[in-house]
Amino acid sequence: MHNLQMVDLKRQYHKIKPEIDAAILNVVESTAFINGPDVNHFAAELAEYLGVKHVIPCANGTDALQISLMALGLQPGDEVITASYTYIATVEVVALLHLKPVFVDVDANTFTMNIDAVRKAITPKTKAIIPVHLYGQCADMEPLLALAKEHNIPVIEDNAQAIGGTYTFSDGRTVKTGSMGIIGCTSFFPSKNLGGYGDGGAIFTNDDSLALTLKMVANHGQNKRYYHEMVGCNSRLDSIQAAILRIKLRHLDEYCDARRAAADYYDAAFKNNPKIITPYRAPYSNHVFHQYTLQLKNVNRDEVNQKLAEKNIPSMIYYPVPCHKQNMLKEYGTANNYLPVTDMLQDCVISLPMHTELTEEELSYITKNALEIIG
Ligand SMILES: *Cc1c(COP(=O)(O)O)cnc(C)c1O
Repeated sequence: MHNLQMVDLKRQYHKIKPEIDAAILNVVESTAFINGPDVNHFAAELAEYLGVKHVIPCANGTDALQISLMALGLQPGDEVITASYTYIATVEVVALLHLKPVFVDVDANTFTMNIDAVRKAITPKTKAIIPVHLYGQCADMEPLLALAKEHNIPVIEDNAQAIGGTYTFSDGRTVKTGSMGIIGCTSFFPSKNLGGYGDGGAIFTNDDSLALTLKMVANHGQNKRYYHEMVGCNSRLDSIQAAILRIKLRHLDEYCDARRAAADYYDAAFKNNPKIITPYRAPYSNHVFHQYTLQLKNVNRDEVNQKLAEKNIPSMIYYPVPCHKQNMLKEYGTANNYLPVTDMLQDCVISLPMHTELTEEELSYITKNALEIIG
């Protein structure tokens, strides 16, 4: 089988090439590289798509999280509850701002924050909760929001892996992921569900005054040019990325559908194998499959990874070391935190190719070989 990839950006590009090329050239021709009209248009279009009042574009998803914590005025020593089972960025910004990461375990089905664990982790010093919608599966937001409200703690959704997803509340109301917390963050890293052709990120909120502060933090602490009210940073989405993302946003729902269709194929192929647990799809949300991640039971996972590679099938371990065990956080002494589900998942997960362009022929090749190897 030719050139299988975890994410195939080239084939996706070629389907929309004329539009994309024209949009890029248009920015180049205008020379409005920074804060050009496409940036504002994209922010407005994304706000409408998500059903939020404000979208503040920024340079990447990590910055989006950092700017959010800064705008909420968190102070050194404040506690931030999040999952250890996430990409490091979620946690790194907490440490960078000298806040204290407090890790909770995840649910073995959804891979997202266990809400009972959050309840137990709350202290008077808890100043923010960051649920991560991992692999495209939304965390269980309704009980989390209720708990956070009870304790008056802001919730920042890390929506970097789940843009385009929805969450349905018990009263039947359906909203987009990232629009439920006081702040939502996302990344436009090329391989994300809504990816640019370089770095990018955005912050969402429905709160008018918080939106102003977020903008100010992202822009050197100024809302009026050369009048700096606070220490901020310099974090912008460039115009070329915005122009590309405007086009890709129009395809986002269809991209999510394509990922779900590939997941359906995988699910059907793997469903009767006792050694394989396919991804759980929580009934409260629609999974957007940023990753398609299996749990392997009674199998040498790393050997499977190796043998797939021999068949030219890429697979990845997201993530081989959970955040609480990273040397980066040594000073916090989290390595011995009791997070049994996180530790268990770390040893048994494997992610297969997942993108918008997978053909039936490719899926058949991947699943046939995977089943043979897993046995
Ligand atoms: C990708 C990602 C980020 C960071 O995004 P960048 O744009 O790479 O900075 C943050 N959190 C999660 C869960 C991610 O997957």
